[in-house]
Amino acid sequence: MRDEASPYAWIGQAMQTIRRANWYRAVRTVEGRSGAVVKLDGRKVLNFASNDYLGLAADERLIRAAIAATQEFGTGSTGSRLITGHRSLHRQLEGAIAKLKQTEDALVFSSGYLANLGTIAALVGQRDLVLSDEYNHSSLKNGAVLSKATVLEYAHCDLADLQTKLAQQRDRFRRCLIITDSVFSMDGDLCPLPELLNLADQFGCMVLVDEAHATGVLGETGAGCVEHFGCTGRSLIQVGTLSKALGSLGGYVTGSAELIDFLRNRSPGWIYTTGLSPADTAAALEAIAIIQQEPERRQQLWQNVHQLQQQIHDRPSNTFPNRFKLIPSESPILCLQVSDAEKAIAIGQHLQEQGIFAAAIRPPTVPTSRIRITVMATHQLSQIQRLVEALFSN
Ligand code: PMP
Repeated sequence: MRDEASPYAWIGQAMQTIRRANWYRAVRTVEGRSGAVVKLDGRKVLNFASNDYLGLAADERLIRAAIAATQEFGTGSTGSRLITGHRSLHRQLEGAIAKLKQTEDALVFSSGYLANLGTIAALVGQRDLVLSDEYNHSSLKNGAVLSKATVLEYAHCDLADLQTKLAQQRDRFRRCLIITDSVFSMDGDLCPLPELLNLADQFGCMVLVDEAHATGVLGETGAGCVEHFGCTGRSLIQVGTLSKALGSLGGYVTGSAELIDFLRNRSPGWIYTTGLSPADTAAALEAIAIIQQEPERRQQLWQNVHQLQQQIHDRPSNTFPNRFKLIPSESPILCLQVSDAEKAIAIGQHLQEQGIFAAAIRPPTVPTSRIRITVMATHQLSQIQRLVEALFSN
């Protein structure tokens, strides 16, 4: 006989466990347009929690492009592209991404998450091996699980560990895919891409690199980490999002024309889902033009990043675990590691009282609790100073 408890009772118990561990998370309401200052739960705050690195999400030109596309084509794409047909706008965007990345072709997905799931699951299967950096984004990890390939994690950015695993395992499998974030989303450091590509060549592996936080931010023309490291033109698969520096919504894959044609035929995450909305497509297209025409946005972003790093370094920093330690970063993502989840929440609350919005990130998202600060091109120097004052007045 089963007991009388509801089959859903476990959910309440799981929530109690989450609360006890200080892992409980709730969504906050932001009002008005996104930007360096937003209204959070009714109060104006400085925004250091957004991935809108170049401040394009509220740019008038993107807004106008989205409105014009909506007026011309309507709000929805009404079906999957293979069945319902697509707009010339979709192909224009794919052409613009391919041009930015200097690849033969590109394919846009409904989100960056789906682009990773859909691409990895199409590229490898049961007879194959995926080698995955242990700090990879959830979408890469879940793409690997979905593919049914054997998945091995290597230590974060540790090429010696990757090489050992390749030497031990590569020959037992048909295809091998190495997957990595280029900018790690919860630490801000970069993957050692040139060396990783060399290893891949040596062992006959494909490489998929997630440029979600790099596109528009890194590289001379904003093409991302691949450009930053001088790896443009090398054979690899790049995935990314339209939702961060590009201020819109959606994801993409870019690479050889053959790869893209294969994905159009074999990626369920693209085939069986509705095409990107006209508004999102047009906004992203406009953003790609702006990141190429206005390199000064990227320059301003990096100036702001260096300002903040300098100001944090200038303060006494050896107080961890009592206070925090700056995790090494080469991107606009700066994380302050703290001793535990309770401390992260307390600092997050203190910052909010000081009129600053920065995310407290805790396990299971990351192995150690931290305050994650994202810098934007549209932050003023005085706003960065206010953040530093607030961090050190704790
Ligand atoms: N990859 C990385 C590294 C990310 O940080 C994110 C977003 N958090 C994604 C993929 C998913 O992108 P999207 O938000 O477009 O689904």
